[in-house]
Amino acid sequence: MVTISTDQYDALIVGQGAAAFAAAMYAARYQMKPIVIGERFGGETATGGLIENYPGYPEIDGFDLMLKFRELADEPARGSAS
Ligand SMILES: Cc1cc2nc3c(=O)[nH]c(=O)nc-3n(C[C@H](O)[C@H](O)[C@H](O)COP(=O)(O)OP(=O)(O)OC[C@H]3O[C@@H](n4cnc5c(N)ncnc54)[C@H](O)[C@@H]3O)c2cc1C
Repeated sequence: MVTISTDQYDALIVGQGAAAFAAAMYAARYQMKPIVIGERFGGETATGGLIENYPGYPEIDGFDLMLKFRELADEPARGSAS
């Protein structure tokens, strides 16, 4: 069993797909301290191969896109709500 102090995190997000990392990014923007846990990094997107309809990217590999999602969710700078 893993024990996590509530001083470290105040939101637990289950899953490691697009929805989970988006939720983490928005939680951080509103000064929450989220932790993301999940079974499989990247969810369906990471194993879907080439993504051709994601705004801003004419085409991008799904795994690479999920790495970018995680990078943004990890960035402390994203934690400030504008
Ligand atoms: C082959 C394929 C190609 C696709 N191509 C495109 C595309 O080109 N463009 C597009 O917009 N969409 C595409 N999609 C759809 C896109 O992948 C999904 O809309 C997206 O992955 C949904 O994200 P999600 O975070 O809601 O769920 P998921 O990606 O399903 O992520 C769920 C996460 O939760 C984890 N999880 C589930 N249950 C538990 C549990 N009990 N405990 C812990 N962890 C758990 C899973 O392991 C996973 O990491 C494609 C899907 C597939 C399969």
